Amino acid sequence: MVDTTKRLLELDDSDRRRTLSVRVSHPSSVLGTIEGKVVVLFCSNDYLGLSRDRRLSEAARARIEEEGTGSTGSRLITGTLTSHNSLEVQLRTTFNRPAAIIFNSGYQANISILPAITDEDDVIFSDELNHASIVDGCRLARAKKIRFRHNDFEDLEKKIQADRCTGDRWIAVESLHSMDGDWLLLPELLGVARRRGAKVYIDQAHSIGIVGEQGLGVEELHNCQKAIDLWIGTFGKALGSFGAFAVGTEPDIAWLINRARGFIYTTALPPAVIAANLASIELLPELSYERKKLWANCRYFREQMKDHWTNLPVGPIFPRIVGDERAALQLKEKLFDRGFFVQAIRPPTVPVGTSRIRITLSADHEPGQIDAFCDALQRLM
Ligand SMILES: *Cc1c(COP(=O)(O)O)cnc(C)c1O
Repeated sequence: MVDTTKRLLELDDSDRRRTLSVRVSHPSSVLGTIEGKVVVLFCSNDYLGLSRDRRLSEAARARIEEEGTGSTGSRLITGTLTSHNSLEVQLRTTFNRPAAIIFNSGYQANISILPAITDEDDVIFSDELNHASIVDGCRLARAKKIRFRHNDFEDLEKKIQADRCTGDRWIAVESLHSMDGDWLLLPELLGVARRRGAKVYIDQAHSIGIVGEQGLGVEELHNCQKAIDLWIGTFGKALGSFGAFAVGTEPDIAWLINRARGFIYTTALPPAVIAANLASIELLPELSYERKKLWANCRYFREQMKDHWTNLPVGPIFPRIVGDERAALQLKEKLFDRGFFVQAIRPPTVPVGTSRIRITLSADHEPGQIDAFCDALQRLM
Protein backbone atom coordinates (compact mmCIF):
# COMPACT_ATOMS: atom_id res chain seq x y z
CA MET A 1 0.00 0.00 0.00
CA VAL A 2 1.19 3.53 -0.73
CA ASP A 3 1.22 5.60 2.43
CA THR A 4 0.72 8.86 0.57
CA THR A 5 1.54 11.16 3.50
CA LYS A 6 4.80 9.39 4.20
CA ARG A 7 5.73 9.14 0.55
CA LEU A 8 5.09 12.84 0.01
CA LEU A 9 7.46 13.60 2.88
CA GLU A 10 10.08 11.51 1.12
CA LEU A 11 9.51 13.56 -2.02
CA ASP A 12 9.93 16.73 0.02
CA ASP A 13 13.17 15.42 1.52
CA SER A 14 14.63 14.66 -1.90
CA ASP A 15 13.36 17.91 -3.49
CA ARG A 16 11.29 15.87 -5.89
CA ARG A 17 7.82 17.00 -4.95
CA ARG A 18 5.93 18.60 -7.79
CA THR A 19 3.16 21.14 -7.39
CA LEU A 20 1.06 23.10 -9.84
CA SER A 21 1.83 26.69 -10.82
CA VAL A 22 -1.31 28.53 -11.83
CA ARG A 23 -0.70 30.70 -14.88
CA VAL A 24 -2.94 33.57 -15.89
CA SER A 25 -2.85 33.65 -19.69
CA HIS A 26 -1.98 36.86 -21.57
CA PRO A 27 -2.76 37.84 -25.16
CA SER A 28 0.97 37.45 -25.82
CA SER A 29 1.84 33.76 -25.88
CA VAL A 30 5.16 34.36 -24.09
CA LEU A 31 3.80 36.28 -21.10
CA GLY A 32 1.99 34.94 -18.07
CA THR A 33 1.05 35.98 -14.56
CA ILE A 34 2.22 33.45 -11.99
CA GLU A 35 1.88 34.01 -8.23
CA GLY A 36 0.71 37.54 -9.01
CA LYS A 37 3.81 38.41 -11.00
CA VAL A 38 4.06 39.04 -14.75
CA VAL A 39 6.82 36.84 -16.14
CA VAL A 40 8.27 35.97 -19.55
CA LEU A 41 7.73 32.27 -20.21
CA PHE A 42 10.77 30.30 -21.35
CA CYS A 43 9.43 26.79 -20.98
CA SER A 44 6.23 26.42 -22.95
CA ASN A 45 5.88 24.14 -25.98
CA ASP A 46 3.97 26.79 -27.93
CA TYR A 47 6.90 27.21 -30.34
CA LEU A 48 5.01 29.25 -32.94
CA GLY A 49 2.68 31.12 -30.59
CA LEU A 50 -0.39 29.47 -32.13
CA SER A 51 -2.15 28.89 -28.80
CA ARG A 52 -3.18 32.57 -28.88
CA ASP A 53 -3.75 32.84 -32.62
CA ARG A 54 -7.16 34.26 -33.54
CA ARG A 55 -7.44 32.06 -36.62
CA LEU A 56 -7.53 29.00 -34.36
CA SER A 57 -9.78 30.45 -31.68
CA GLU A 58 -12.27 31.79 -34.23
CA ALA A 59 -12.46 28.42 -35.96
CA ALA A 60 -13.12 26.80 -32.57
CA ARG A 61 -15.81 29.32 -31.64
CA ALA A 62 -17.62 28.95 -34.96
CA ARG A 63 -17.60 25.17 -34.73
CA ILE A 64 -19.10 25.16 -31.24
CA GLU A 65 -22.08 27.02 -32.70
CA GLU A 66 -22.45 24.42 -35.46
CA GLU A 67 -21.72 21.18 -33.65
CA GLY A 68 -22.00 21.89 -29.93
CA THR A 69 -19.59 21.42 -27.06
CA GLY A 70 -19.40 17.64 -26.88
CA SER A 71 -18.76 14.91 -29.42
CA THR A 72 -21.38 12.73 -27.61
CA GLY A 73 -19.57 9.40 -27.90
CA SER A 74 -16.53 7.43 -28.84
CA ARG A 75 -15.31 7.56 -32.43
CA LEU A 76 -16.86 4.15 -33.22
CA ILE A 77 -20.30 5.09 -31.88
CA THR A 78 -21.54 8.69 -32.39
CA GLY A 79 -18.29 10.62 -31.92
CA THR A 80 -17.18 10.87 -35.54
CA LEU A 81 -18.59 14.24 -36.57
CA THR A 82 -17.97 15.86 -39.93
CA SER A 83 -15.15 17.84 -38.23
CA HIS A 84 -13.27 14.66 -37.33
CA ASN A 85 -13.64 13.38 -40.85
CA SER A 86 -12.46 16.68 -42.37
CA LEU A 87 -9.43 16.75 -40.11
CA GLU A 88 -8.41 13.20 -41.02
CA VAL A 89 -8.82 13.95 -44.73
CA GLN A 90 -6.71 17.09 -44.29
CA LEU A 91 -3.99 15.17 -42.41
CA ARG A 92 -3.77 12.65 -45.24
CA THR A 93 -3.47 15.42 -47.80
CA THR A 94 -1.03 17.59 -45.86
CA PHE A 95 1.30 14.74 -44.97
CA ASN A 96 0.76 12.95 -48.26
CA ARG A 97 0.05 9.58 -46.69
CA PRO A 98 -2.64 6.99 -47.42
CA ALA A 99 -4.29 7.17 -44.01
CA ALA A 100 -4.48 9.17 -40.77
CA ILE A 101 -6.34 9.01 -37.47
CA ILE A 102 -6.82 11.37 -34.58
CA PHE A 103 -5.99 10.42 -31.00
CA ASN A 104 -7.11 12.34 -27.93
CA SER A 105 -3.53 13.01 -26.87
CA GLY A 106 0.03 12.03 -27.66
CA TYR A 107 0.15 10.03 -24.45
CA GLN A 108 -2.92 8.08 -25.47
CA ALA A 109 -1.53 7.53 -28.98
CA ASN A 110 1.74 6.03 -27.78
CA ILE A 111 0.22 3.80 -25.12
CA SER A 112 -2.40 2.53 -27.58
CA ILE A 113 -0.49 2.15 -30.83
CA LEU A 114 2.53 0.15 -29.68
CA PRO A 115 0.44 -2.61 -28.04
CA ALA A 116 -1.89 -2.69 -31.06
CA ILE A 117 0.74 -3.11 -33.75
CA THR A 118 2.88 -5.77 -32.04
CA ASP A 119 2.42 -9.43 -31.01
CA GLU A 120 4.30 -11.85 -28.75
CA ASP A 121 6.78 -12.81 -31.44
CA ASP A 122 7.68 -9.20 -32.29
CA VAL A 123 10.39 -7.03 -30.75
CA ILE A 124 10.28 -3.29 -30.01
CA PHE A 125 13.70 -1.65 -30.00
CA SER A 126 13.21 1.47 -27.92
CA ASP A 127 15.61 4.40 -27.39
CA GLU A 128 16.58 4.41 -23.70
CA LEU A 129 15.56 8.06 -23.31
CA ASN A 130 12.15 7.72 -24.95
CA HIS A 131 9.25 9.72 -23.52
CA ALA A 132 7.25 8.10 -20.70
CA SER A 133 4.32 7.51 -23.04
CA ILE A 134 6.46 5.34 -25.35
CA VAL A 135 7.86 3.52 -22.32
CA ASP A 136 4.32 2.86 -21.09
CA GLY A 137 3.24 1.76 -24.57
CA CYS A 138 6.11 -0.75 -24.56
CA ARG A 139 5.05 -2.00 -21.13
CA LEU A 140 1.53 -2.63 -22.35
CA ALA A 141 2.69 -4.39 -25.51
CA ARG A 142 3.12 -8.16 -25.51
CA ALA A 143 6.21 -7.88 -27.70
CA LYS A 144 9.70 -8.32 -26.32
CA LYS A 145 11.36 -4.96 -25.56
CA ILE A 146 15.02 -4.13 -26.05
CA ARG A 147 16.45 -0.73 -25.17
CA PHE A 148 19.34 0.84 -27.07
CA ARG A 149 21.56 3.77 -26.19
CA HIS A 150 20.11 7.18 -26.95
CA ASN A 151 20.47 8.05 -30.64
CA ASP A 152 23.19 5.37 -30.97
CA PHE A 153 22.37 3.42 -34.10
CA GLU A 154 25.49 1.27 -33.95
CA ASP A 155 24.25 0.01 -30.61
CA LEU A 156 20.81 -0.49 -32.14
CA GLU A 157 22.17 -2.46 -35.08
CA LYS A 158 24.24 -4.70 -32.79
CA LYS A 159 21.20 -5.38 -30.66
CA ILE A 160 19.04 -6.18 -33.67
CA GLN A 161 21.70 -8.56 -34.99
CA ALA A 162 22.07 -10.29 -31.64
CA ASP A 163 18.35 -10.93 -31.27
CA ARG A 164 16.58 -13.89 -32.85
CA CYS A 165 13.29 -12.28 -33.59
CA THR A 166 10.86 -14.41 -35.60
CA GLY A 167 8.23 -11.71 -36.03
CA ASP A 168 8.42 -7.99 -36.82
CA ARG A 169 11.06 -5.65 -35.49
CA TRP A 170 9.86 -2.16 -34.65
CA ILE A 171 12.20 0.71 -33.77
CA ALA A 172 10.56 3.39 -31.60
CA VAL A 173 12.16 6.83 -31.28
CA GLU A 174 11.47 10.55 -30.81
CA SER A 175 12.35 13.03 -33.57
CA LEU A 176 13.35 16.04 -31.44
CA HIS A 177 14.03 14.84 -27.93
CA SER A 178 11.63 16.46 -25.48
CA MET A 179 14.05 16.81 -22.57
CA ASP A 180 17.52 16.76 -24.18
CA GLY A 181 16.69 18.90 -27.21
CA ASP A 182 18.84 16.83 -29.58
CA TRP A 183 17.70 15.61 -32.98
CA LEU A 184 17.11 12.10 -34.17
CA LEU A 185 19.79 11.02 -36.67
CA LEU A 186 17.11 9.99 -39.12
CA PRO A 187 19.25 8.92 -42.12
CA GLU A 188 21.32 6.63 -39.84
CA LEU A 189 18.17 5.17 -38.33
CA LEU A 190 16.62 4.53 -41.72
CA GLY A 191 19.86 2.88 -42.86
CA VAL A 192 19.72 0.41 -39.97
CA ALA A 193 16.02 -0.21 -40.55
CA ARG A 194 16.60 -0.93 -44.23
CA ARG A 195 19.58 -3.23 -43.63
CA ARG A 196 17.87 -5.15 -40.84
CA GLY A 197 14.34 -5.21 -42.21
CA ALA A 198 12.93 -3.30 -39.25
CA LYS A 199 9.89 -1.03 -39.17
CA VAL A 200 10.13 2.53 -37.92
CA TYR A 201 7.81 4.31 -35.45
CA ILE A 202 8.55 7.96 -34.77
CA ASP A 203 7.04 10.30 -32.20
CA GLN A 204 7.14 13.78 -33.73
CA ALA A 205 5.56 15.59 -30.77
CA HIS A 206 8.19 18.35 -30.82
CA SER A 207 9.17 18.50 -34.50
CA ILE A 208 5.80 18.95 -36.20
CA GLY A 209 5.37 22.56 -37.25
CA ILE A 210 8.93 23.68 -36.70
CA VAL A 211 11.04 21.86 -39.31
CA GLY A 212 10.70 21.38 -43.04
CA GLU A 213 9.85 24.07 -45.57
CA GLN A 214 6.16 23.57 -44.83
CA GLY A 215 6.57 22.53 -41.20
CA LEU A 216 5.81 18.90 -41.93
CA GLY A 217 8.52 17.54 -39.65
CA VAL A 218 11.58 15.36 -40.03
CA GLU A 219 10.32 13.47 -43.07
CA GLU A 220 10.15 16.71 -45.01
CA LEU A 221 13.44 17.96 -43.55
CA HIS A 222 15.33 14.85 -44.69
CA ASN A 223 13.24 14.41 -47.78
CA CYS A 224 12.45 10.80 -46.97
CA GLN A 225 8.67 10.78 -47.32
CA LYS A 226 7.22 7.32 -46.89
CA ALA A 227 10.38 5.78 -45.40
CA ILE A 228 8.80 5.95 -41.94
CA ASP A 229 6.19 3.23 -41.48
CA LEU A 230 4.10 4.93 -38.84
CA TRP A 231 4.51 8.19 -37.04
CA ILE A 232 2.58 10.35 -34.62
CA GLY A 233 2.37 14.09 -34.18
CA THR A 234 0.66 16.14 -31.50
CA PHE A 235 -1.56 19.21 -31.70
CA GLY A 236 -0.65 20.45 -28.23
CA LYS A 237 2.82 21.82 -28.91
CA ALA A 238 3.76 23.88 -31.99
CA LEU A 239 0.23 23.46 -33.34
CA GLY A 240 -1.19 25.41 -30.39
CA SER A 241 -4.20 23.20 -29.65
CA PHE A 242 -4.73 19.74 -28.14
CA GLY A 243 -4.78 16.11 -29.26
CA ALA A 244 -2.66 13.94 -31.52
CA PHE A 245 -2.69 12.00 -34.76
CA ALA A 246 -1.04 9.05 -36.42
CA VAL A 247 -0.30 8.67 -40.13
CA GLY A 248 0.71 5.54 -41.98
CA THR A 249 -0.44 2.87 -44.37
CA GLU A 250 -4.11 2.08 -44.93
CA PRO A 251 -4.01 -1.33 -43.25
CA ASP A 252 -2.05 -0.06 -40.23
CA ILE A 253 -4.45 2.83 -39.62
CA ALA A 254 -7.52 0.64 -40.23
CA TRP A 255 -6.08 -1.84 -37.71
CA LEU A 256 -5.66 0.96 -35.15
CA ILE A 257 -9.33 1.87 -35.59
CA ASN A 258 -10.08 -1.76 -34.65
CA ARG A 259 -7.53 -2.42 -31.95
CA ALA A 260 -6.01 0.74 -30.43
CA ARG A 261 -7.71 0.80 -27.05
CA GLY A 262 -7.00 4.49 -26.37
CA PHE A 263 -8.73 5.29 -29.66
CA ILE A 264 -11.74 3.02 -29.14
CA TYR A 265 -12.59 3.33 -25.45
CA THR A 266 -12.71 7.07 -25.01
CA THR A 267 -14.99 9.94 -25.96
CA ALA A 268 -13.90 11.64 -29.18
CA LEU A 269 -12.34 15.10 -28.94
CA PRO A 270 -14.95 17.89 -28.95
CA PRO A 271 -15.72 19.86 -32.15
CA ALA A 272 -14.06 23.07 -30.94
CA VAL A 273 -10.74 21.31 -30.40
CA ILE A 274 -10.99 19.54 -33.75
CA ALA A 275 -11.74 22.85 -35.50
CA ALA A 276 -8.67 24.48 -33.95
CA ASN A 277 -6.60 21.45 -34.99
CA LEU A 278 -7.88 21.68 -38.54
CA ALA A 279 -7.16 25.42 -38.67
CA SER A 280 -3.59 24.83 -37.49
CA ILE A 281 -2.97 22.02 -40.01
CA GLU A 282 -4.33 24.19 -42.82
CA LEU A 283 -2.13 27.09 -41.72
CA LEU A 284 1.00 25.00 -41.28
CA PRO A 285 2.53 25.43 -44.76
CA GLU A 286 2.00 29.21 -44.56
CA LEU A 287 3.82 29.68 -41.27
CA SER A 288 7.29 30.12 -42.74
CA TYR A 289 7.59 33.60 -41.20
CA GLU A 290 6.94 32.16 -37.72
CA ARG A 291 9.35 29.27 -38.33
CA LYS A 292 12.06 31.68 -39.52
CA LYS A 293 11.55 33.81 -36.45
CA LEU A 294 11.73 30.78 -34.16
CA TRP A 295 14.98 29.63 -35.75
CA ALA A 296 16.41 33.16 -35.69
CA ASN A 297 15.60 33.29 -31.96
CA CYS A 298 17.33 29.94 -31.42
CA ARG A 299 20.45 31.18 -33.23
CA TYR A 300 20.39 34.40 -31.25
CA PHE A 301 20.12 32.52 -27.95
CA ARG A 302 22.96 30.17 -28.91
CA GLU A 303 25.12 33.08 -29.98
CA GLN A 304 24.59 34.85 -26.65
CA MET A 305 25.20 31.73 -24.57
CA LYS A 306 27.98 30.00 -26.50
CA ASP A 307 30.82 31.20 -24.26
CA HIS A 308 28.99 29.99 -21.17
CA TRP A 309 27.52 26.73 -22.30
CA THR A 310 29.10 23.88 -24.25
CA ASN A 311 27.09 21.53 -26.48
CA LEU A 312 24.21 23.91 -27.02
CA PRO A 313 21.53 22.03 -28.96
CA VAL A 314 20.39 23.15 -32.40
CA GLY A 315 16.68 23.63 -31.89
CA PRO A 316 14.26 25.35 -29.55
CA ILE A 317 14.83 23.09 -26.49
CA PHE A 318 17.84 23.90 -24.30
CA PRO A 319 18.29 21.71 -21.23
CA ARG A 320 20.60 23.30 -18.69
CA ILE A 321 21.68 20.32 -16.63
CA VAL A 322 22.68 21.29 -13.09
CA GLY A 323 22.80 17.87 -11.42
CA ASP A 324 20.79 17.68 -8.26
CA GLU A 325 17.18 18.53 -7.64
CA ARG A 326 17.82 21.40 -5.26
CA ALA A 327 20.17 23.18 -7.66
CA ALA A 328 17.55 22.98 -10.41
CA LEU A 329 14.84 24.37 -8.11
CA GLN A 330 17.10 27.19 -6.95
CA LEU A 331 17.97 28.22 -10.49
CA LYS A 332 14.29 28.20 -11.39
CA GLU A 333 13.45 30.36 -8.36
CA LYS A 334 16.21 32.87 -9.00
CA LEU A 335 15.09 33.25 -12.60
CA PHE A 336 11.54 33.72 -11.38
CA ASP A 337 12.69 36.52 -9.07
CA ARG A 338 14.14 38.22 -12.14
CA GLY A 339 10.90 37.91 -14.10
CA PHE A 340 11.35 34.67 -16.06
CA PHE A 341 9.47 31.41 -15.79
CA VAL A 342 11.24 28.11 -16.48
CA GLN A 343 10.40 24.77 -14.93
CA ALA A 344 12.82 22.54 -13.00
CA ILE A 345 12.78 19.05 -14.49
CA ARG A 346 13.71 16.36 -12.00
CA PRO A 347 13.63 12.55 -11.69
CA PRO A 348 11.71 10.47 -12.62
CA THR A 349 11.17 12.60 -15.75
CA VAL A 350 14.95 12.63 -16.30
CA PRO A 351 17.66 10.25 -14.98
CA VAL A 352 18.93 10.76 -11.40
CA GLY A 353 21.73 13.32 -11.27
CA THR A 354 20.60 15.13 -14.43
CA SER A 355 18.06 17.56 -12.98
CA ARG A 356 17.79 20.56 -15.19
CA ILE A 357 15.92 23.61 -16.22
CA ARG A 358 14.45 23.08 -19.63
CA ILE A 359 14.49 26.31 -21.62
CA THR A 360 12.36 26.59 -24.73
CA LEU A 361 12.16 29.40 -27.23
CA SER A 362 9.21 30.65 -29.22
CA ALA A 363 8.72 32.63 -32.40
CA ASP A 364 6.95 35.19 -30.20
CA HIS A 365 10.00 36.02 -28.05
CA GLU A 366 11.43 39.45 -28.85
CA PRO A 367 15.22 39.92 -29.00
CA GLY A 368 15.02 42.19 -25.92
CA GLN A 369 13.36 39.43 -23.89
CA ILE A 370 16.05 36.97 -24.95
CA ASP A 371 18.78 39.51 -24.09
CA ALA A 372 17.39 40.02 -20.60
CA PHE A 373 16.94 36.30 -20.05
CA CYS A 374 20.47 35.45 -21.24
CA ASP A 375 21.87 38.17 -19.03
CA ALA A 376 20.11 36.72 -15.98
CA LEU A 377 21.11 33.20 -16.91
CA GLN A 378 24.78 34.10 -17.35
CA ARG A 379 24.88 35.75 -13.94
CA LEU A 380 23.28 32.74 -12.28
CA MET A 381 25.16 29.96 -14.03
C1 LIG B 1 4.37 15.84 -25.05
C2 LIG B 1 4.77 14.52 -25.58
C3 LIG B 1 3.86 13.48 -25.70
C4 LIG B 1 2.47 13.58 -25.17
O1 LIG B 1 1.65 14.31 -25.99
P1 LIG B 1 0.31 14.92 -25.36
O2 LIG B 1 -0.52 15.26 -26.52
O3 LIG B 1 0.74 16.09 -24.55
O4 LIG B 1 -0.29 13.83 -24.51
C5 LIG B 1 4.28 12.32 -26.30
N1 LIG B 1 5.55 12.17 -26.72
C6 LIG B 1 6.46 13.15 -26.59
C7 LIG B 1 7.85 12.93 -27.09
C8 LIG B 1 6.12 14.35 -25.99
O5 LIG B 1 7.02 15.30 -25.82
